[in-house]
Amino acid sequence: MTSPALPGDPNPSGDREAAVLDAAATGFPAALSDLGQLVRIPGMAWPAFDQTQLERSSEAVAALASGTGVFDDVRILRAAIPGTDEVGQPAVLATRAARNGKPTILLYAHHDVQPPGDDALWETPPFEPTVRDGRLYGRGAADDKAGIMAHIASIRAVAEVLGDDLELGIAMFVEGEEEYGSRSFAQFLSDNKDALRADAIVVADSGNWDSSTPGLTVSLRGNARFTVRVRTLDHASHSGMFGGAVPDAMMATVTMLATLWNADGSVAVEGMIERDAQTPDYTEETLRDEAGLLPGTSPIGDGTILSRIWNKPSVTVIGIDATSVAAASNTLLPEVTVVISARVAPGQTGEDAYAALEAHLRAHAPFGAELTFSDVDLGNGFLVDTSGWAVALTREAMRDGYGVAPVDLGVGGSIPFIADLVREFPQAQILVTGVEDPHSRAHSPNESLHLDTFRHAVATEALLLSRMNDII
Ligand SMILES: [Zn+2]
Repeated sequence: MTSPALPGDPNPSGDREAAVLDAAATGFPAALSDLGQLVRIPGMAWPAFDQTQLERSSEAVAALASGTGVFDDVRILRAAIPGTDEVGQPAVLATRAARNGKPTILLYAHHDVQPPGDDALWETPPFEPTVRDGRLYGRGAADDKAGIMAHIASIRAVAEVLGDDLELGIAMFVEGEEEYGSRSFAQFLSDNKDALRADAIVVADSGNWDSSTPGLTVSLRGNARFTVRVRTLDHASHSGMFGGAVPDAMMATVTMLATLWNADGSVAVEGMIERDAQTPDYTEETLRDEAGLLPGTSPIGDGTILSRIWNKPSVTVIGIDATSVAAASNTLLPEVTVVISARVAPGQTGEDAYAALEAHLRAHAPFGAELTFSDVDLGNGFLVDTSGWAVALTREAMRDGYGVAPVDLGVGGSIPFIADLVREFPQAQILVTGVEDPHSRAHSPNESLHLDTFRHAVATEALLLSRMNDII
């Protein structure tokens, strides 16, 4: 992708890019202070929290969007939640039409945050933005209010330098319920399809390789979560009376669950596939440190460590209903209920993986135990098509914005709404970027943003917007 050169001007885009980077750097303190103001608003989409805070945060984001001066229209909108009579949380939609046949870019982030959890575990109050050791601490400081501010700060920089030469179409969509399952997201996309249509979509809600090395997220695992009830008896009995002659539900459950894994802890479910792809080096020592593995405990799985997290499935039992330790008595349990959460390799649908899991459990239910499946929740993984021009442009912008070549990242978790984006806008190139680094602790106490990562992310996005504006 080259910029149009004017006769007599030896390097017009180079000078302009330097000016854009300058403007991004000069505007950085203001961006950080605006980010702090957003962090002060405790907007959480859970019904237990004060929902008017989400109105406040959407209004604050709308004001920031209007303040850039580039948008033709800035609105706060809600969409219906399909299958209910409720509406979703307020989202900000800001749009400007492309001029002179230039492309349009859609910038996504979310303004809602995770609940803070136990306040006592925070070193400084969660909604009090605090800078310590080069990081900004606070709930949402990284996830994902810094994503919002990366968009705003980069737009400010290009608007300042390019003025009327900014011909790029820009849409900004900042939703208010990502942490609560994006329940109105698909409806929002279809309600606002024309306003959101773009050539490339930046989803600024992921991470980087480390605080100084940018990452472009190119794969995400899907998920399959469900509840299974295991029954063997129609009533509880004294274990001394029938123990040894009839199976209790716990015995059936643990025997069945044990078949989900091979001896090395890898998944043993026929039909759950894995993806074959290269992964960067990542040592067992780093894994031990980042995951908090106890000294005598070994990792699980086979293949490179990152392939286990990025490209292979995993199965975890995340909940169990049975008699508690305090209430234990010498009784044969008639039923046990467990919640199973599986991560699905990119390339396999959640539906497909769930079918394999259900078939496996039915085939391995011992002693003819009765199984009932319910509360199935599925999300598809995602593989980015990295062949498009916008991906190449983003990688170059990352290299120049950070001064370090980007790493292609897989993510072990899921961003299920990306599948909605792909379905609604199949032609758009999806660019999953972000401002987090491995120490950001999104969703946990003491969430923080590395200020250098943020600075470089703003520079990167400003370069990306400026270079997209040069496309003819
Ligand atoms: Zn997020």
